[in-house]
Amino acid sequence: MKIRVSIATASLLGLKNYIVAAQPTTLYFMLPGDCKGQCLYCTHREGYLSRVKWPEFDMKEVIKAIKKKGAKRICIQCPYDDNIDIIEEVAKKLRDFAPISASITAIGKEEMERLREADIERVGIGLDCASQRIFIKWKKNTPSWKEYIDAIENAKDIFGSVTCHLIIGLGESDEEAINLMQKMAAKGVKIALFAFFKEGKNLVPLPRYRIMQIARYAIENGGATFSFDNGKLIEMEVKRITKEAFLTSGCPNCNRPFYNERVTKIYNYPYLPSDNEFEQAVKEAEKYGRIYIASE
Ligand code: SF4
Repeated sequence: MKIRVSIATASLLGLKNYIVAAQPTTLYFMLPGDCKGQCLYCTHREGYLSRVKWPEFDMKEVIKAIKKKGAKRICIQCPYDDNIDIIEEVAKKLRDFAPISASITAIGKEEMERLREADIERVGIGLDCASQRIFIKWKKNTPSWKEYIDAIENAKDIFGSVTCHLIIGLGESDEEAINLMQKMAAKGVKIALFAFFKEGKNLVPLPRYRIMQIARYAIENGGATFSFDNGKLIEMEVKRITKEAFLTSGCPNCNRPFYNERVTKIYNYPYLPSDNEFEQAVKEAEKYGRIYIASE
């Protein structure tokens, strides 16, 4: 059996000799095969997903390497296809090494139960769009918006822990993005924030992304208040801003190094930012909107 391995993971496992700027804290794998979906923002093609190349390896070779190296988390990227049998088979081979996340589309309840039985610990669901308005524009040949929302709710019941993938930069307003984050937080669902990256470019300005990172972190950690003008975020009040706000978000230990940015302009920090990086990140955010720190 063959499996695709992200180049940073392959390097960490000693399967390839690439130089990577930051080590992944999760091992990322992708099932072989095409995706049935035709999301217009997606770059899943010929062994690529987002900026990342995913060469194929023999599963036995991969397992041998994981046994030597260990892992904090394993993520299996599952293209939209009728591949539950394969996801199950891969999960059963990897489940002894670390908690498994499966990054899936809006599958049905019974299929999720099968994944749970195969010891998948949690799922990440690629809703990607902040609202139905954006979803209709970008997501083609996939389950519907309602099916995605239902799948997130079912996943919460079945797995207990769920991550919802959200891309910033698809034309959503700030209000739409923040509303979605608040709705997900109310359901106990974590947000994995992505910056739209296509054809070698980030298509969301860094100051806007920084303020969204602060908003996400605040929403999931004690709340925040927001003021909008015509959908644009004007000001927000948060309890505090910490370095963790700028880390890659999503499942525990998922750092997706340079998944949606170049090494020279970091959007999601795969490591805790230095004092200087933190200061710069807050300054970037303040270029976009006013941020008040609530007095305790
Ligand atoms: S947040 Fe990370 S570990 Fe979780 S499903 Fe998404 S990519 Fe995988």
